[in-house]
Amino acid sequence: MLSYQHAYHAGNLADVHKHALLASALDHLTRKDKALSYFETHAGRGLYKLDGSEALKTGEAAQGIGRVADWFTPDHPYARARAMVTAEHGPAAYPGSPLIAAALLRGFDTMTLAELHPAEVAALREAMPQRYVQLLQEDGLAMALSRTPPDPRRGMMLIDPSYEVKTDYDRIPDLIAKLHRKWNVGVVMLWYPVLSNNAHSAMAQTLRMRFSDALSHEVRFAPARPGHGMIGSGIFVLNPPFPLQDEATRLSRLYAAL
Ligand code: SAM
Repeated sequence: MLSYQHAYHAGNLADVHKHALLASALDHLTRKDKALSYFETHAGRGLYKLDGSEALKTGEAAQGIGRVADWFTPDHPYARARAMVTAEHGPAAYPGSPLIAAALLRGFDTMTLAELHPAEVAALREAMPQRYVQLLQEDGLAMALSRTPPDPRRGMMLIDPSYEVKTDYDRIPDLIAKLHRKWNVGVVMLWYPVLSNNAHSAMAQTLRMRFSDALSHEVRFAPARPGHGMIGSGIFVLNPPFPLQDEATRLSRLYAAL
């Protein structure tokens, strides 16, 4: 039974880290006039409300994008994607990763999104009526292996689990290794929480050891509430587009100064 709902956390400091790097990677990949295959294993509902009861209850968005929006100039791809979504859905709208990707991808790219929770799938379908988007109500990690290598081969996958199933931390290094063997040109971006109990550490270390050319980037921040276990955000990227390191370095400086 899945209980995680991203609406309580959308726009928090972890989302800002993940979405800024996702948008920067896609901005780079879409500069070439060649089609891309884009995947998400854990898509969520796509569209969130910063003034919704869930966001107001936790206050995470207020401590997140509400506080750091000026880190991103209007021409930053994350700011551009947010502006496209607020123009359509109003100033309190916040795009999840599928809407950020849709804002930056071109009409000839393909999107395949997996999400398991029925209510999230229904909301995602409403938020993304585009015909070139394939929505799958299935296990995202199984989808990652069954749909790769894609055609076109050039492309990117975001793996963004909720880590409700604690075995995800053990499964992910092998999954990423298999995925990389099947799709060695794919840009694979994994998000994970940095936790005060270090539950993420073995996974992150294994990934860094196995893939020494990958981009591994962590930022730290104060927990959203006293005693809350998440004290930072981690991103691990296979085949990182070259300029992503510069954006990661810039974000390191900004988070350190928070
Ligand atoms: N990627 C989204 C974003 O950045 O806007 C947030 C996704 S949220 C962290 C994780 C999502 O994964 C939740 O919506 C949850 O319902 C979904 N989920 C949990 N287990 C899943 C599975 N095995 N396969 C696909 N989706 C799953």
